[in-house]
Amino acid sequence: MPSDRYPTTSEIREVGPRDGLQDEQPIPVEARIRLIDALSATGLRAIEVGSFIRPDLVPAMAGTDRVLAGITRAPGVRYRALAPNMRGAELALQAGVDELELVVSVSDAHNRGNLNMSTDASVDQIGRIVAVASEGVVPVEVIVATAFGCVYQGTIPTADVVALARRLRDLGVATLSFADTIGSASPPMVSALIDALEDAGWQADQLALHFHNTRGAGPANIVVAAQRGVRRFDASIGGLGGCNFSPGATGNVATEDVVHLLDSLGATTGVDLDALIGVARDVETLIGRPLPGCLLRSSPWTGRPLLPDGP
Ligand code: ZN
Repeated sequence: MPSDRYPTTSEIREVGPRDGLQDEQPIPVEARIRLIDALSATGLRAIEVGSFIRPDLVPAMAGTDRVLAGITRAPGVRYRALAPNMRGAELALQAGVDELELVVSVSDAHNRGNLNMSTDASVDQIGRIVAVASEGVVPVEVIVATAFGCVYQGTIPTADVVALARRLRDLGVATLSFADTIGSASPPMVSALIDALEDAGWQADQLALHFHNTRGAGPANIVVAAQRGVRRFDASIGGLGGCNFSPGATGNVATEDVVHLLDSLGATTGVDLDALIGVARDVETLIGRPLPGCLLRSSPWTGRPLLPDGP
């Protein structure tokens, strides 16, 4: 039976330095290091520092090994990185990631576009990478992309998501994260996926969810998932993300907004909201434009009035 009590604690996994920055004009490694160190100081416990993808494909992620070497590792913080293939995984392990993130799309068309191989081929590769990572006792999380919708295949059937999740569980993957890659999820879809995963043997508190706020439903999806017992959510500082070449594309739900939301539900994050907002403002300066996070605008924290002056 679904539980409708919120967890008493929750964990935000910050993805801004990877999912947020990957589509930006490259910023220097030193600036990426400063950003991660600043995020580490806010109380976040999991930070995605970058990806080990070919620099000619994603120039903004070049030098993620130097980022990992340059950061000051705060006690209790897990520094994670994404790898698209075996070569990337080997580089990530050599660079000393605390957790390795892999990705596979439920949509075969999206997987071919993203990773240049079929979903089946990705699953085979994940099995080999899990074997290598387990030798180094590095936990592997697999991000199940297009878990709700796909630009090529439209709405993704929940049964297909669960079937892929079962295959990944059979490979020994420690954690699964379900990504709303194109921001098309709605609260009923989130609830239906949690139902189906619970029926297949998962408990809600084992799951992680990754929402983009493309249609503004990200926070509502988080509330529904938290109500069902999910306590791990990805978020991006300031809502950083999207694509410079795709007008209207948006990033993940903004970390500071999600911290505010989860804390208000009593699912405490342990993150210092004021510090986080300070970091988000620094990121706006770094990339030279305002970020979409709600708490950066029209909020008591900004020092600006809640309502504009005059009628
Ligand atoms: Zn994403």
